[in-house]
Amino acid sequence: MKAIVCVKQVPDTSGKVAVNPDGTLNRASMPTISNPDDMNALEAALALKDATGCKVVVVSMGPPPAEGMLHEMLAMGADEAFLISGREFGGSDTFATSQIIAAGIQAIGLDDDDVVFCGRQAIDGDTAQVGPQIAEKLGLPQVSYVAEIKKDGKDIVVKRMLEDGYMTIKVQTPCLLTCIKELNQPRYMNIRGIMESYSMPYTVLDYEALKDSPLIEADTIGLKGSPTNILTSFTPPQKGKGKMLEGADQEACHALVSELAEKHII
Ligand SMILES: Cc1cc2nc3c(=O)[nH]c(=O)nc-3n(C[C@H](O)[C@H](O)[C@H](O)COP(=O)(O)OP(=O)(O)OC[C@H]3O[C@@H](n4cnc5c(N)ncnc54)[C@H](O)[C@@H]3O)c2cc1C
Repeated sequence: MKAIVCVKQVPDTSGKVAVNPDGTLNRASMPTISNPDDMNALEAALALKDATGCKVVVVSMGPPPAEGMLHEMLAMGADEAFLISGREFGGSDTFATSQIIAAGIQAIGLDDDDVVFCGRQAIDGDTAQVGPQIAEKLGLPQVSYVAEIKKDGKDIVVKRMLEDGYMTIKVQTPCLLTCIKELNQPRYMNIRGIMESYSMPYTVLDYEALKDSPLIEADTIGLKGSPTNILTSFTPPQKGKGKMLEGADQEACHALVSELAEKHII
C-alpha cells in the first residue's frame, strides 16, 4: 500500500505580493512555501503510515527549486520523492497540470490499495481543480473537502465537510482525497529526519520519462495543451471605508435601517 501525496510549491502570500506589469505574479522575487493544504495532505498520509506501515511518496510538478520542499517532506517522514519537471510542461493550466501529474502517478505505479492525497486548493492558483481532475484522468473515485480519515479494512471511511455539516462516505481504494486544514495538525520535522533527508535522493520525471504515457501528447500538455485563456488580469479597486454608526439604542437602530433603506439594500 502507498500513500501518494501531491504537493505544490507556492509563493508565500503572507508577505508582500509582487506583481508583474502584465498582472501576473512575479514568482521569482517572492519566497516560496509548501502549499498549506498539502501539508495537511502529507500529515494524513504520514498518519496512515503510522497506522498501517504503508509507504509515503510525495510528488510535485514544478521547476528545480522545488527540491528544497521535497527534502522538507522527506524530513517529515515521507519515504520517496518525485519532481515532475521539464520545459515541455511550462505554461500548463489546471487541465494540462492534472494530465501531467496523472501521468507521473502512473509512472510511479498505482496499486489497488493506494490512496492519492491532494490539498483542497493551492493558495496561488486557487482553483481547487487539480485534485478532482487527476482523479478523473486516473479513473479513481474521489472525495473532496476531507476532514477526517479512518481505514476500514480495505476501504477508507472519510468525513466530508459540507457548508452546514458533514457527510460520512466509505470509499474503495485506489482513490483520491482532497484534504482541508481541519483534518489535522501537520507534524514538525526532527533533527534526525532533516539529516537523513539529505542522503535520500529524489527522482526527476522529465518529458523523456513520461512521453510514452497515453496522457502525454503535444496537445494535452504545456501552453498548447491548456484550454484556459486569460483574457485580462487586474487588481480589484480598493473598497471605500465603511461608515460607522455609534450607539446601541433604538435611535442607532433607526439610523442603521434608514441608511440601508436609502441604499436600497432593504
Ligand atoms: C493559461 C494558464 C497558463 C499558466 N501558465 C503557468 C506557467 O507558465 N507557470 C506556472 O507556474 N503556472 C502557470 N499556470 C498556473 C497553473 O496552471 C496552476 O498553478 C496549476 O495548474 C495548479 O492549479 P491551482 O494552483 O489552481 O491548484 P489547485 O487546483 O487549487 O490545487 C489543488 C491541489 O492539487 C495539487 N497540485 C496543484 N498543483 C500541483 C503541482 N504543480 N504539483 C503537485 N501537486 C499540485 C495540490 O495537492 C493542491 O493542493 C497557468 C495557468 C493558466 C490558466
